[in-house]
Parts: sequence; C-alpha cells; structure tokens
Amino acid sequence: LAQLFRPLDLLGMVYRTIRQGALDMAAMFDLIDTPATIRDAPNAGVLAVTTGHVRFEHVSFGYDAERPILTDLTLDVPAGTTCAVVGRSGAGKSTLARLLYRFYDLNGGRITVDGQDIAQVTQASLRAAIGIVPQDTVLFNDTIGYNIAYGREGADTPEIEEAARGAAISAFIERQPQGYDTRVGERGLKLSGGEKQRVAIARTLLKNPPILILDEATSALDSRTEAEILETLERIERGRTTIVIAHRLSTVVHADQIVVLDAGHVAETGTHAELLRRGGIYAEMWARQAQERDETALAAE
Ligand code: ADP
Ligand code: MG
Repeated sequence: LAQLFRPLDLLGMVYRTIRQGALDMAAMFDLIDTPATIRDAPNAGVLAVTTGHVRFEHVSFGYDAERPILTDLTLDVPAGTTCAVVGRSGAGKSTLARLLYRFYDLNGGRITVDGQDIAQVTQASLRAAIGIVPQDTVLFNDTIGYNIAYGREGADTPEIEEAARGAAISAFIERQPQGYDTRVGERGLKLSGGEKQRVAIARTLLKNPPILILDEATSALDSRTEAEILETLERIERGRTTIVIAHRLSTVVHADQIVVLDAGHVAETGTHAELLRRGGIYAEMWARQAQERDETALAAE
C-alpha cells in the first residue's frame, strides 16, 4: 500500500481509476485526503526498524493554524503490542494514522519509530515499514491476483497465494473458474465488503510490515462478517506493533492498551477492564454501545 501514496503512483492510480471506472471513489479520496507536499529532510537516512516501537511525543497538529486538532499528545506503543484508539467522530483518530504515515508534518513535538524521528528519515523507508488496512478497500478493475500483488512490487505467485491463505480468501479465489486470474470490478466478479477486506489483508500480509494500522477496518461490515474478519486481523497483529482505530468498542477489547482521544488529547488510557473500572468516558461509551447492541438484538427477534 505504500506505493499508493507516492505522488506519481497516486496520479497514475487516479487516472486508472477514472479511466476504468473503479469502485469506491469516495472511499479512495477519503483515504488519500489532501496529499500534502512533504519532502524528505536534506540528509534523511533510511529508517532502521529494530523492534517497531512507536512513540508520539508532545505532538501538536492542525490542518490549519486556527484550528488545532491534536495538542501536546503523548502516546507510547511498545514494540509488538496493540494500541486501540477510540473517541467520537472527528476526535482526530485518523489524523494520528496520517501523521504516523507522515502525510503531514507536525506543528510541535515528534513521532519516533525505534527512537528515530520520522521527519528525519526517507518517506519511502518509513512507508515501507507501515501497512494500512482502511475502512473501505479500493479494488482495481484487474485480476484478483493483481489486486493482492499490489501490496508489494515484484511478488511472485507462491507469495501471492500464501498471502491469500493468510487472509483466508484463497479457497474463495480457487473456487472461481479462472482462479487468481479472475477479473474483479464492474465487468468482473463483484466482491462483498468482507471479501474486499480480505484482499486488503492479503495485500498487507504480502507487504509484511512491522507496523500495522487498522483504521475502522471492519466498521463497514455487518457484525457476523466483522467477527470473522476480526479473527484474521487478530492473527496478523501478532508480532507487529498495531494501532487499531475503532468506532465499535467490541473490536478493541483485546488491545494491550486503549487510548481515548478527546478534544485533541489523550483523555484516558488503560486496558478494557481498567477503563471500565475507572467509570469515565470509555465506560460511558461502552454502556451506551452495549445498550445499542441489546436494542438491535431485540429488534432482530
Ligand atoms: P476521526 O478519525 O477521529 O473521526 P479525523 O482525524 O478524521 O477524525 O479528523 C479530525 C478533525 O480534523 C475533524 O474535525 C475533521 O473535520 C478535521 N479534518 C480531517 N481531515 C482534514 C483535512 N484534510 N483538512 C482540514 N480538516 C480536516
Ligand atoms: Mg477516522
């Protein structure tokens, strides 16, 4: 997915998308947002990921000067752990992900990966270390194999098949008459939301990044499909530093650390059990969502 964000590839992709009438244009532009003009520092080195320890240190940021989005935000994600970020819509959750990917530079503070300031390393090396599974996955009107291979340039067939197995979509692909050569998109096979997310997961497995961002990766799915995908995601989170952005709290219970973003800073942090005991914002969100779940269950009866 790293290539997705390089300006030239971006242009190529937008062109391709328009020409071929790709799916999910709105989702694509939401993900890409406004590509800012970020340049490598003059002496930028190559990011050396040793363990994948991510830190936000006193980070301040706003898309424009008048309106700060994050103020003095500090967040420590130890190597290999899962940190969930929750908070109301507009709280700045996706902004955190965009800053780690360095779509924008900070107004203050710094973000480090294994102690290296991400503003001081090449964007290519930074982005090679990070995989993103977004809310809605954009598929190209091309073969399903191509769509998976997009995770890493030069991947060979056995690697693509292994990624598909890891994402639990290989059986589905092999059932198609043309297998990995089956075309998807408007004039081809139409994939469900869950199948598209599995393609996104396969892409990410192919990329094999030490750092993983899941930005509401399952929020567009029905709850049964979500449960199935979550199982796969929890498996690929193992051994990687993961930031899970979630709206539905049922998806973050397993996280090592849950961070509640509110008014541009970390309002609460702890495990699910700790935050429930605390009786603050998280506990209130949990109670409200539990009530909604009950109501949905009742309505379905
Ligand atoms: P969340 O993911 O928590 O819902 P976001 O991080 O997407 O929130 O957005 C945080 C705030 O920043 C929102 O008020 C949103 O309107 C604003 N915002 C997001 N992207 C941009 C942008 N490209 N330009 C200006 N404001 C933006
Ligand atoms: Mg968001």
